Amino acid sequence: MALSDFPRHQLTFGPSPVHPMQRLSKHLGGPQIWAKREDCNSGLAYGGNKTRKLEYIVPDVLASGADTLVSIGGFQSNHTRQVAAVAAHLGLKAVLVQEKWVDWPDSVNDKVGNILLSRLMGADVRLDPHGFDIGIRQSWQDALDEVEANGGTPYPIPAGASEHKFGGLGFANWAYEVAAQEEELGVFFDTIVVCTVTGSTHAGMIAGFAALADAGGRPRRVIGIDASATLEKTIDQVGRIARNTASLIDLGRDLRDDEIEVLPGWAGDLYGIPVESTIDAMRRTAQHEGVILDPVYEGKSMAGLFGLVENGTLTAQNTVLYAHLGGQPALNAYSGII
Ligand SMILES: *Cc1c(COP(=O)(O)O)cnc(C)c1O
Repeated sequence: MALSDFPRHQLTFGPSPVHPMQRLSKHLGGPQIWAKREDCNSGLAYGGNKTRKLEYIVPDVLASGADTLVSIGGFQSNHTRQVAAVAAHLGLKAVLVQEKWVDWPDSVNDKVGNILLSRLMGADVRLDPHGFDIGIRQSWQDALDEVEANGGTPYPIPAGASEHKFGGLGFANWAYEVAAQEEELGVFFDTIVVCTVTGSTHAGMIAGFAALADAGGRPRRVIGIDASATLEKTIDQVGRIARNTASLIDLGRDLRDDEIEVLPGWAGDLYGIPVESTIDAMRRTAQHEGVILDPVYEGKSMAGLFGLVENGTLTAQNTVLYAHLGGQPALNAYSGII
């Protein structure tokens, strides 16, 4: 099947905006940096990258006859907030297992930001003491069983919507969207920089850009910046989902290992805990562009972009597209860092 043969339930406004970051580019003194803005891609609860992934999952939800979306994330999960929004939008229930993925001392960490929005949208939010893990969790399985025991029909959406069979399609489509926008704007992005944790955002891009390159497009680098601090698991997961997505869209060949590039160095020691480079990237991006980044994901991927300019990997020869994946609601739970 081609990507366009998969049903897509529109949740975004349309193609997300692409714009140059002129003052930041000048400040860094290397490549031209542009951003593509998944943080303003939808009218559903501030949108974000999970909203785009869910566009390819919702048709399967509706076909299944489910009445309850069941998903999982940390207390400040952007993903579960987006699942709550989609449930509200479709008239379904949402059960959200919110684990203590981050040991962050802010006393309102389980009250403000994303979790507040999920509660406001009517989701059944369950706090759970378990720590960070991008894999499949028992607590999530238990929530699914409980919905069934109560006579409901659950639809499971794994963490970050990544391990779902269609989890990579949204960002495979993103690659095609980028190619169309390049055509309109008369620009070519030779390097994409994206934050990677549960993996299907980066993986979908890898599959989509591989298909474009195989169809005669110019090759480019899709660099994932690890923000999981569990690098091996994330590389595995990105590779697996990229290969699954590539086969779904009939790439017709295996992906090469060099097409799967996840770089360590900016995650710090723990998922969800910002380090100095994170906060520095957040401040400099806010102060040069008025663009807001969060301390869990985008602050770390932007720190990675800064680092790649500083170490000479990205130079004035490059035109870089920074994928802004959203996540600002979590900022409220981290007021102490600024
Ligand atoms: C989930 C998320 C990511 C990471 O995307 P994955 O597909 O899980 O790798 C990055 N940034 C934000 C804001 C997110 O919510």
